[in-house]
Amino acid sequence: MIDKISIMGVSYKVVEVPGGLEPDHLGDISESESTIRIRKGVAPQAQVSTILHEILHACLWSVNLDSSEATVVPLSNVLYSVLLMENPELISQLQTILLGETTHVSKKLPRKRSRKRRRP
Ligand SMILES: [Zn+2]
Repeated sequence: MIDKISIMGVSYKVVEVPGGLEPDHLGDISESESTIRIRKGVAPQAQVSTILHEILHACLWSVNLDSSEATVVPLSNVLYSVLLMENPELISQLQTILLGETTHVSKKLPRKRSRKRRRP
């Protein structure tokens, strides 16, 4: 489980809680306490989608946009689908681009060399 998430310069503590949430909620976020709470024991997929949902609340607060459930629910569902389900390699591919081609190439070179050495 993730301990902390930085959202536009604010460090949010992430905690799993056995109770204390609204009955039909899998998580919530407190701006004043900088805390994201996730219901303990939920399936990994629900945990991830809930974290993404709560992150979006904080993102929208940070830019003073509508952070109502009417906005956050469909937006987090779409991002969950595009970033994690439809393109499972996308985030790591974007990080590779961000880190630059040098890092990408240097990671691949040793693999090619070791494969050649093992060939009879
Ligand atoms: Zn919400």
